[in-house]
Amino acid sequence: RSFSVNTAQMAPVTKPGQEKYDIVFIGGGSGGVAGSRRAASYGKKVALVEATGRLGGTCVNVGCVPKKIMWNAADIAEKIRHASSYEFTNVPYEPKFNWAAFKPRRDAYIQRLNEIYERNLEKDGVEEHHGFARVVSPNQVEVTRADGGEKYVLNTEYICIATGGRPTIPSEKDIPGAGQGIDSDGFFDLEDQPKRVAVVGAGYIAVEFAGMLRALGSDVHVFIRGERVLRTFDPVIQDTLTDWMEHTGINIHKSSHVVKVEGVKGQTPLTIHTDKGETAEVDEVIWTIGRHANTEGLGLEELGVNLHKNGDVITDEYQNSNVPSILSIGDVSGRAHLTPVAIAAGRRLSNRLFGPSKFKNDKLSYENIPTVVFSHPTIGTVGLTEPQARKKYGDDAVKIYKSSFRALYFAMIDEAHKEPSVYKLICVGEDERVVGVHIIGLGSDEVMQGFAVAVVMGARKEDLDNTVAIHPTSAEGDTNMR
Ligand code: FAD
Ligand code: NDP
Repeated sequence: RSFSVNTAQMAPVTKPGQEKYDIVFIGGGSGGVAGSRRAASYGKKVALVEATGRLGGTCVNVGCVPKKIMWNAADIAEKIRHASSYEFTNVPYEPKFNWAAFKPRRDAYIQRLNEIYERNLEKDGVEEHHGFARVVSPNQVEVTRADGGEKYVLNTEYICIATGGRPTIPSEKDIPGAGQGIDSDGFFDLEDQPKRVAVVGAGYIAVEFAGMLRALGSDVHVFIRGERVLRTFDPVIQDTLTDWMEHTGINIHKSSHVVKVEGVKGQTPLTIHTDKGETAEVDEVIWTIGRHANTEGLGLEELGVNLHKNGDVITDEYQNSNVPSILSIGDVSGRAHLTPVAIAAGRRLSNRLFGPSKFKNDKLSYENIPTVVFSHPTIGTVGLTEPQARKKYGDDAVKIYKSSFRALYFAMIDEAHKEPSVYKLICVGEDERVVGVHIIGLGSDEVMQGFAVAVVMGARKEDLDNTVAIHPTSAEGDTNMR
């Protein structure tokens, strides 16, 4: 039996001789949507199964998109604070953000995106199924319908696991009261702005949320296990951001482990206790201590698919699992949890499986993946950090260029609000090939993409120097660095 079950009322695409799918994607997030559309563009019979009924996955619903919208709001708050320095009058120094009014508008935009994703799938001929998917054989996916209807099975040549991940929250056993806190999904459900917030963690989400909440006027505590945030980033980024976060009034509790959360959310304030005996009273506790793969209940272990101990599907460079017909892309495959990575892996996989012969070896290179952190100020990075380069090439081969400056924008702003900018190049060898670029400061989010192209193309320091600067910008800081 072949079913097409969806609320978007797509026509079933089963044609004579096409009872079996060429590929079934499990998960309608960044990777699944991109991969399925590319496969369908080659005329293949493609199904995509999504459990939640909302397409777009983490990025669209509880990740990049609503986060960037909130970051924009926070950025405007900062600009309003700067306005009087540019001699604007009648501008309140302390802007008031109406979170309760803004959230429904943000949600409505996300819903529009969900609908656009539905239409795009339909347009490209991808058959959408709403339900929870489980792999029952190397060539069969069972769908438990979201509408409670009868389960059914899709027969298919290939199965691509694109189920993403979800936030990790400590257990009540490890941290009593942990359940009183929320995670990043819960952050996007907040109907109003918490006045006092504790953010636990030191990674991307921790610094992005802490920066946004602080800029919007909340009182923010951050609890980190080490001395610096973003411990996997280049030391100059760790130092600059940690110092600036503290400078803006974020209370960073360093080298501390949360041991208990007291109170009842919504009824009493919550009190965080650390192993150092510190406490902080807040209205919300947000756990941002990493994410883990959505592989429970998928049936993979039963079929002998190799998983890492954290649940990630182990894949080779072509996204193959150890079971030949089962592939995996995106966050669930455990490498670089970023939307463009999931998209690129999905498209290249479909190119390789179904595209013209020029794509028969297509695969995503996981080297030199650029990334931006929407902290305040923003960070851009690509390639190796200084410690990684020294380890890989040896101290003698590595040359570092670094420049610290204030963006011209801050020339008119009082000293206390002048954000730092730091640009750092990691070069190796006689010809000073650029193997890492790490930047923090105004506009780094928009600047980074171009430098990533240069690094991927194998640029040398000399190539940057030979490029005429664009003035006056911050980006020109990466040319003629001494
Ligand atoms: P997902 O987008 O998570 O999609 C997986 C889908 O699979 C989900 O819709 C889920 O419902 C579905 N699913 C799971 N199990 C099943 C099942 N058994 N049956 C059917 N469906 C199932 N990345 C960036 O590049 N830039 C950013 O600025 C950025 N900001 C972020 C901010 C936050 C707060 C978070 C949490 C993440 C952010 N990311 C960002 C990361 C980005 O969101 C992810 O890397 C990306 O969404 C991964 O895509 P994916 O397709 O692998 O998985
Ligand atoms: P990250 O992996 O970035 O950071 C989690 C951090 O939490 C770790 O660095 C670790 O820091 C700390 N941590 C881990 N366990 C504990 C614990 N038990 N107690 C306290 N702290 C702990 O995860 P995030 O959840 O922030 O984000 C998940 C992923 O989503 C990111 O890695 C990124 O790939 C993606 N993302 C991308 C964004 C972007 O592109 N702008 C934005 C947001 C997310 P330490 O070891 O120093 O203690």
